[in-house]
This record gives sequence, structure tokens and C-alpha cells, in this order.
Amino acid sequence: MKSSFNPPVRTLMGPGPSDVSPRVLAAMARPTIGHLDPEFIRMMDEIKEMLQALFKTENALTMPVSAPGSAGMEACFVNLVEPGDKVIVCQNGVFGGRMKENVERFGAEAIMVTDDWGKPVDVAKVRSALEQNPGVKALAFVHAETSTGVRSDAAALCALAREFDALAIVDAVTSLGGINVDVDGWGIDAIYSGTQKCLSCPPGIAPVSFSEKALEVVRQRKTPVPSWFLDKNLVMGYWGGSGKRAYHHTAPVNSLYALHESLVMLFEEGLEASWDRHQLNHQALRAGLEAMGMSFLVDEAYRLPQLNTVTIPDGVDEAAVRASLLEDYDLEIGAGLGALAGKVWRIGLMGTASCRRNVMLCLTALENTLVAQGGAINQGVALKAANEVYLKAP
Ligand SMILES: *Cc1c(COP(=O)(O)O)cnc(C)c1O
Repeated sequence: MKSSFNPPVRTLMGPGPSDVSPRVLAAMARPTIGHLDPEFIRMMDEIKEMLQALFKTENALTMPVSAPGSAGMEACFVNLVEPGDKVIVCQNGVFGGRMKENVERFGAEAIMVTDDWGKPVDVAKVRSALEQNPGVKALAFVHAETSTGVRSDAAALCALAREFDALAIVDAVTSLGGINVDVDGWGIDAIYSGTQKCLSCPPGIAPVSFSEKALEVVRQRKTPVPSWFLDKNLVMGYWGGSGKRAYHHTAPVNSLYALHESLVMLFEEGLEASWDRHQLNHQALRAGLEAMGMSFLVDEAYRLPQLNTVTIPDGVDEAAVRASLLEDYDLEIGAGLGALAGKVWRIGLMGTASCRRNVMLCLTALENTLVAQGGAINQGVALKAANEVYLKAP
């Protein structure tokens, strides 16, 4: 017979999932009620309102998809893309490549604009792709590339999409909650995120929002949406506005309690205050890592505070360092992906995990482990450097 599974208590400083606060975990343990219970529907309405405030949008279709961030991505492409369409896809890391696969699987042509890993999407290249390809239906890009730690200029890219009358489809999985995301201000037509990055929920839910223009495109499709589960026309019977809700699928009731609680916490803190906290903890971690002698892959001008990609000191086996951090300190950091595998670490400071305690733990654990494994670093300077950032903070 098997016994209960009791996971170790870890500190999650990788590319996601991030630490989930005890308040959110406690919310998940509340009694399961029916997905059509009037009390549950009242909570759904509050989630929608809070997501609208978080995305900074009035979009009526703003809701959590009952599946992880990847399903949010698929929900955008499966509803908006039809066979024969042309979509410009920007790729500067792993996730742009997944957008390409989505576009192609739904029978459309992906026109790729590629940039080096560690660089933002080049707006000038996107403009010339739009000029060379009249009639493009959509422009798709990743706001915060989690594989590299780069932020692209979402406002400028969305302005270009509007200028060329293309829909702007945006991946905000890692940006939402950690840095500014302004759906109506920037003119985003379809956006998706995930709960397990800066929203600090368990994985498994994908907040999405579609503009009125995007919804009209869905309504005018020549072919039916090729996914029953993700078809916005059908899902809105359950998540849609006016009172009466019809069964579509059984919502992940307790996971939505978690999302509700995390959004309540985010608005208690304040959106701007949350971005400031992400920035401050990034500055402190950065000061410590640089004092040790590590350097950042990404230029400060477009670096994400919630995802720190740093070089690995000479003389160590990077996988052994990560294994030791997990074993000896219950601390998870992320490995490099794709072209960056073995070359960098990705240290997340996302949501609840973006705190002073984690910064100090990470610097301590990393220094001890690197010294033990013979890494070429400066010793005894990291904590002081990080602490100075906190002392100077307003
Ligand atoms: C994590 C992530 C995803 C995928 O989200 P899952 O919840 O893992 O499915 C998509 N895009 C970006 C930028 C991400 O960081």
C-alpha cells in the first residue's frame, strides 16, 4: 500500500512555479462547492473584475482558462487563426518557437522575425516584415521571455500591429504581476498569462483577455474553432457576462479559490507596489551576484526583475551546484534552456518569492555551494552588497 505524499518544503526561485503563499494554499483547502453554485458564481465574477484590473482592460472576455499557461497560448491561436492566414511571430527565446508551432498546427503561415537569445524583439525588423507581407492577420510576441530574462517593448509592438491593422497577440505569462502590463493602453487584442509565475498560485490556470475586435474575428470565422474545449464561443456560456451560466466543463473550483486569494493579496499590496518590490529585490540580488563575480546575460535596459539570467563561474559543474542547492538548502533555481543550457542559471524572483529573505538565502546558499565546489568567485562580499541596496531603499 502507498502512503500519503508529503512534499518537502522548498524555496522556489526558478522560472516557475514560484513560491505559493500560505494564504493561497489555505484558500485551496476550503470546501469544494458546485461550479454552478450561486456563491461560486459570485466568486467567479470577482475573479473577472480583478483580472480586468490586473490586465488594465475593460474587455468583457477576461477570464481564467482551466489549464496552464500553454493552454492560454493555444486558446489565443486556436480561436484567432484560420487555415491560410499569415501571422508574424517574433522569436527571441523558447516561447516564440511555441507560438510558431501553434500557428502552423492551425493551418496558417508563420512569418518569423528572429532575434538573438538575450535580446529583445527588434521593432524595426517587425516593421519591415509587416511592410513586406501585406494582409498579415496578427502579430504575436512574448512580452517577458522566461528562457532568457528579456522584456520586449510591448507598447511599440502593439502600436505597429495597429498601424498595419493586425491583431496583437501577447504572451504575458511571466510579466503579469511583476511588471506593467497595459492591455487597453497598449491596444492588445489577445493576451494570456499563467498563475504560477508572478501571481504565485499553483500551476494550472491561464488568465486570458480578448478585445472586442478579437471577438469579432472569432465570430466571423469561416471555419469552426478546431478545439471544442478552448472555443471562446462555447466557454462564454459559462464565463460570460449576464447572470445565467450554463455548464461547459467543471471548473477547477479549488484552484480558482487560490487564484481569487492571490488576486486579493495583489490588490491589497497594490499593483505598483508589487512591481516596485520585484525591482528592489532584483537590485539586491544583482548587487550580490555581481559582487561575487557573476554577470547578467541581459542588458539592464530590457532586463526582467523577476527572472535573473546569470553566467556560471568557472570551475564548477552547474548541475551539481543546483543539485546541492536543492539537497542542502531546499532551494530551487533554474537551468539554462536550449542554446543557453549549461551556460547560465535562471534565478526567479516571482510573486511571493520576490522577498528579502529569499534574496539573502539564495546568495548565502550559492556562495557556500560554489566555494565548496571550487568555483572561481569573490567570497564574503555578496551579502553586504545586497544589504546595502536594502539600506538605501526608500
Ligand atoms: C511558463 C511559460 C509559458 C507556459 O506556461 P505553462 O503554465 O508552463 O504551460 C508560456 N510562456 C512563457 C513566457 C512562460 O514563461
